[in-house]
Amino acid sequence: MTTTTHRHTVAIVGAGAAGLTAAAMLKRTRPDLDIALIDSATYHYYQPAWTLVGGGCYDIGRTRRELRTLIPQGVRHLAERVEQFEPEHNRVVLGNGDAVEYQVLIVAAGLQLDWHKIEGLKETLGKNGVSSNYAYEYAPYTWQCISQLKGGVALFTQPAMPIKCAGAPQKALYLAADHFRRNGLSVQSHFYTPGPAMFSVPFYAQALDKVVAHYGITAHFGHTLVAVDGPRRTATFEVGPDKQRVTQAFDFLHVVPPQSAPDVIKRSPLADASGWMAVDKFTLQSPKYDNVFGFGDCTTTPNSKTAAAVRAQAPVVVTNVLRRLSGSGGEARYDGYASCPLTTSRGKIMLAEFCYDGVVTPSFPLDPRIPRRSYWWLKKHYLPYLYWEQMLRGRPGPDWHAKREFPAQVPTFEP
Ligand SMILES: Cc1cc2nc3c(=O)[nH]c(=O)nc-3n(C[C@H](O)[C@H](O)[C@H](O)COP(=O)(O)OP(=O)(O)OC[C@H]3O[C@@H](n4cnc5c(N)ncnc54)[C@H](O)[C@@H]3O)c2cc1C
Repeated sequence: MTTTTHRHTVAIVGAGAAGLTAAAMLKRTRPDLDIALIDSATYHYYQPAWTLVGGGCYDIGRTRRELRTLIPQGVRHLAERVEQFEPEHNRVVLGNGDAVEYQVLIVAAGLQLDWHKIEGLKETLGKNGVSSNYAYEYAPYTWQCISQLKGGVALFTQPAMPIKCAGAPQKALYLAADHFRRNGLSVQSHFYTPGPAMFSVPFYAQALDKVVAHYGITAHFGHTLVAVDGPRRTATFEVGPDKQRVTQAFDFLHVVPPQSAPDVIKRSPLADASGWMAVDKFTLQSPKYDNVFGFGDCTTTPNSKTAAAVRAQAPVVVTNVLRRLSGSGGEARYDGYASCPLTTSRGKIMLAEFCYDGVVTPSFPLDPRIPRRSYWWLKKHYLPYLYWEQMLRGRPGPDWHAKREFPAQVPTFEP
């Protein structure tokens, strides 16, 4: 087989939220820069709206666009998968056998959904009342099931961290619970998580406990979903450190799959022992290879894996990549910012924003534990616009997040 070696100043692996934003920002800053963007996907997805799709509030068709229509002008799109990283040789190898040599590499390959790690799940997903907002194909089925449920038991599960949008498993839960409440339906809702609390940041977790109590949801901590029997409608969990198994019958089951770094990263010298791509959590640079940077869901940075984090990380990567290429300029640092718009009811959102170490950093000087209609509007209308029309075109938009203090008392929850 004849293979070709492509040579580019910057190679970007993955044309998702992170890769497209980095390519567009680099081009906007340095129009002459020679960039290759490598991704074999046909479509690009606006994944944050899948929660709304699963809650019956958004059209799934509006979350997908053809990837080729989003490639920034002047950027070379190589529609292939990267099969191997060879950072010692400043090279990646593609699925067709071609190689791409680079001066600087940006790894933005997202994460991998490990559906297969839950026994019986793949066979039953999309039928037998088993759904997941974590895939374009299934998010509409979530709403189909919820809107047809007349009573019974609804289970919502969360896998071990890290996952993308750690709040998404409970967003599905609250939208469903609100629907059951509004329609006077007697559905017992249960939430299962391996973790010890509803959220990793105690400031928000305490407010979410009130949401859980309001809807009469039963939260099961220390529980990991390990098997699903679709035809019999049962879910099996391992509980606690001794992994005792318990089985629960359901009428509806919303599953969030276990997640890990893409296999191509796990088996590469870029990964650390966890399998994720190792980067300095502030500069987003590989500790082993000075000309390699990583951002988005695929890295070891201990922030919440969100598009909001990508929006904050992109200017840091772009600044540090240009600095590396020119040998001059200041270093940029990422503070761990992420945002998680928690859909606590149909029409209201608790906008959880925070940085590294759980520091609460809202964009607005309002108590973020209070769900607001304005934030629903922000999520449903403004953020999709910001994403498609600004961020993916290299304009990350306004950044007002700041450390702010709020009263210790947790506000009452009103849906
Ligand atoms: C249900 C759900 C709800 C969410 N809600 C929110 C929210 O409310 N707010 C928020 O900010 N974020 C939310 N997110 C998270 C957000 O969508 C992700 O954090 C974001 O998309 C990460 O961007 P990324 O570029 O790292 O990965 P992605 O956007 O997933 O893109 C990864 C890209 O890499 C490509 N790729 C993978 N492997 C290779 C390879 N070997 N070679 C070449 N290319 C490769 C893929 O084809 C893909 O195009 C949500 C996600 C889900 C699933």
